[in-house]
Amino acid sequence: MTSETVFAPVAGQTILSMVQTFAKLTGDGPARLAYHKTMRKGPLCSNSMPCGGLSVADLFAGAFGDGVSLVLAHSPISLLTQDASPEKAARVVSKLASGNRGRLDCPRLPTGVTCGNRSDLRCPQCADKAFADFGFRPALREHVFDYVALCASHGCQLISDGAWSRLEACLIDSNPQARVNAMRYASAVSTFLQSSPQRPLRESIMSELRAKGFVTPEGHFRLAALDRSFSAFYSGGLGDARLTWLTQTRSVPAMFVRSTSRGRPVHAVLLILMHIFAREVDSLSPQLPLRLEPDYSPSTDVELIQSYRGQWQAHLAATPDLTRKEMRLALPGAWTWLYRHDREWLERHQVKKAKPLGGRKPAELPAPFLDAIRTSTVDFRYSDEGREPLPSSYQLRLGLGLTEHVFERTSRELGFGSSAQLPGRKQVFVTRRVDRAHVDLGHRSTSALAVVARAAKLRPETVAEYDYRR
Ligand SMILES: [Zn+2]
Repeated sequence: MTSETVFAPVAGQTILSMVQTFAKLTGDGPARLAYHKTMRKGPLCSNSMPCGGLSVADLFAGAFGDGVSLVLAHSPISLLTQDASPEKAARVVSKLASGNRGRLDCPRLPTGVTCGNRSDLRCPQCADKAFADFGFRPALREHVFDYVALCASHGCQLISDGAWSRLEACLIDSNPQARVNAMRYASAVSTFLQSSPQRPLRESIMSELRAKGFVTPEGHFRLAALDRSFSAFYSGGLGDARLTWLTQTRSVPAMFVRSTSRGRPVHAVLLILMHIFAREVDSLSPQLPLRLEPDYSPSTDVELIQSYRGQWQAHLAATPDLTRKEMRLALPGAWTWLYRHDREWLERHQVKKAKPLGGRKPAELPAPFLDAIRTSTVDFRYSDEGREPLPSSYQLRLGLGLTEHVFERTSRELGFGSSAQLPGRKQVFVTRRVDRAHVDLGHRSTSALAVVARAAKLRPETVAEYDYRR
């Protein structure tokens, strides 16, 4: 039986969801294995693809076409590689299709801000409708895409339709102000996935920013004004606690400007935020007091700029051994003038900041993310058909849907890593599971160890160690 005769994928269904559906409908061994392996390791490509090492075409025995067309039609990769060169985008797609392990080398967001396992997020209405029509509840790429909180078609808040995405559902911010921005974001994601933008996003952002006065005719960004307007525009929040935290604690426009000036690709999520902002924000008022704009002043004389830049460059060349601060103190006049009138140029022509001893400090984890875990009353651990969840940090990590790296950082911060696996708790847990198995089996005294272990979904050695020793 091929996958094609079993089901036809829904438009926009993720490849991972197709694997899950196929495994559920047929009980196919390799597909089940692929799905469970992915849940343990974490999905790829904005939660739409099985984990690395699995060839997509092989999973369906070639039924739904070749790997590359599958990846393009059933993952958000075209949106994620918006800002990469066509050659690089093609390389990433073929890596995903072939399951070739190794880094995808795409821009990343800070630890803790990155999304966890979102493969179970569904719009209740979309899922119900698909179930009525086709008999399964598919995950759609426009819903599992990073930080989407609402369904663009129905306006419903997404829910975790299973055990894997409960933390992701908890991080959705449902306050009405955040909903406005969340809807803008969800609609943009949905539109870009249905038909790729006609023009690269970065180009449309730049032309809007130019038209609205955020970029000078000479091509300089008015970063201070850009930053202020961006913060005001998204001040209501973004529908996802981590994304709101990112826009409030970091300057997204500065991240965009930095990557643009260095010719580096910008993360797709930041591009989408900048695109919505650039399209919908009002033009910058030309009457703004000029002294508030240290990075741009039309009154600045070209000769003055050239003179100070020349002085500073000569100073740089003449004193290669001075630190950043010593450089400033040795030529305070030029430094101050450039800092006030030509700050971006000065930043690019400074000595690099000294690195603190002891290496880089790990980035701070978002407080709303830690709070969601700390204050939640939900037991995030995976429990099979209502059985007692396993008391291990491994199960806790899977339940939270985090990668090993993020989980390790989180557990160090919250201090639950070691307490998740106390021997006493394990004893209680095994005893409860075995008792339930005996009840399920209904003949306590006659059941063999292996039968009890299978019913309890535990290894026979575990049952022997904790139960039969009592
Ligand atoms: Zn929907």
